[in-house]
Amino acid sequence: MKILVTAALPYANNELHIGHFRSTYIIADVYARLHRALGDDVVFICGTDEHGTPISLRAIKEGVSPIEITTKYYELDKKVFKDTEISFDYFGRTTSKEHEELVQWFFLELLKKGFITTKKTQQPYCEYDKRFLPDRYVRGTCKYCGYPDAKGDECDNCGRVLAQGDLLNPVCAICGKPTTIRETENWYFDLEKFHKELQAWIENSENLFPLYGKKYLLTQFLSKPLESFGITRDLEWGVPVPLQEAKGKVFYVWFDAPIGYVSFLKEYCDKNGCSWKDFWQNKDSKIVHFIGRNIIYHHGLFWPSMLLGVGLNLPTNIVAAGLLNLSGKKMAKSSGWMIKAQDFVKVLNNDYLRYYLIIAAPLEEDLDFKLEDFQKRVNGDLVDSLGNFVHRTLHFIYTKFNGEIPTPSNLSDDDKALINQIEQVKEKVISSIDSFEYRAGLDALISLARNGNKYLTKNAPWELVQKDLERAKTVLFVCAQLVKALALFHFFSFLDFHLTVLIKRLLCEDVV
Ligand SMILES: [Zn+2]
Ligand SMILES: [Zn+2]
Repeated sequence: MKILVTAALPYANNELHIGHFRSTYIIADVYARLHRALGDDVVFICGTDEHGTPISLRAIKEGVSPIEITTKYYELDKKVFKDTEISFDYFGRTTSKEHEELVQWFFLELLKKGFITTKKTQQPYCEYDKRFLPDRYVRGTCKYCGYPDAKGDECDNCGRVLAQGDLLNPVCAICGKPTTIRETENWYFDLEKFHKELQAWIENSENLFPLYGKKYLLTQFLSKPLESFGITRDLEWGVPVPLQEAKGKVFYVWFDAPIGYVSFLKEYCDKNGCSWKDFWQNKDSKIVHFIGRNIIYHHGLFWPSMLLGVGLNLPTNIVAAGLLNLSGKKMAKSSGWMIKAQDFVKVLNNDYLRYYLIIAAPLEEDLDFKLEDFQKRVNGDLVDSLGNFVHRTLHFIYTKFNGEIPTPSNLSDDDKALINQIEQVKEKVISSIDSFEYRAGLDALISLARNGNKYLTKNAPWELVQKDLERAKTVLFVCAQLVKALALFHFFSFLDFHLTVLIKRLLCEDVV
């Protein structure tokens, strides 16, 4: 089966923290690895989201061009994904020519079909800088919580999304002078036209939101008319609106960014000789979006409406996982309360991170990263159970049997039972990943290692080797089968498992 796996596009204005890996990247990677190993034709894509006012505003303040900022973070993101072994097939940029053309095509199609209208509104303006002040270009006091340094589109203190008029005493974020108001015309996407179709799709599609989203979207948004979505801004940084009368306007970043899923797939297929339509417009293929639950509105309503409007297929699954807190507090770039992924993998094995972020809580729940809990999990499960079993088995084979896996004689019922568990665990791993209950699959793998340890202790091959060599060989053979299975199952799914190279040499030449 053809499967397109996408991971939410990181915004090219900051380094990624480990919370992004919990909500999105590790989870998507596990899914992509499993399906590749099962023989599916998987394309796993992502790329940097490079437009929007946080980037252009920062560029003004730092006296550099926006593309300098986004190029820096594009390179950093690419490196951290490589270091954390996230197995993207393609990592693009929303500043590519192909992407720009596709965004403009989406707009013109939607316009032609009557899904886009214009509206004149009053927008904040700076007389000093002689420009409109969209989104982040305004700062002021949040009218809901009184926080004095709220951004034009969002309050960092109370977390509310803010609209024009929600800031008291608004000032220009560039020069700090009070704003004035001027009339401007912008383009709006009429979401309400898709209300019925969206509702039926969300209500009737099985497993569309395997973790989170269905109830939230139905009760919070689809229980009333959908508000139209402003898709253009008076701004210079972004994809230009391709109309004569829209000079000086670009698309809002949330209109532009999700189109990256299609444009990056196209770019990948152009380079690799496949057809993007075989993945996106094929009734037998799957499109699986992995996102953090904080962007469910955009992926569950806005993006599907755009797809419906231009006649492209809707996603099969939208996997919205919980977020990561750090010792009880929300991780945030603005407060600096976070662990950067790059810093983490500099000092600790990447597999520890993968393991902990999956095993410590079900994917749909937010997870609180606690250092002592992390330490306990890694030492208890990975070192004591998994590492210990693998080490004891391989070390024994190496020292007593010259590194050759011994040939077994008669298998006892105990031996057979343990070997049978391998197949059961394999099924469990596959079904748990496919149903997005990763923790159960990983738990089954660690239990297999625990059972291996018990078996080893009970049979004590270090004693058998003196008195019953044939039996010792059989016990080590059984253990070797377990080690091989653990390596393979981990490798094709949860962990990158750094023992794989060693195991390949020792046990099985056919490791992927
Ligand atoms: Zn507020
Ligand atoms: Zn100003």
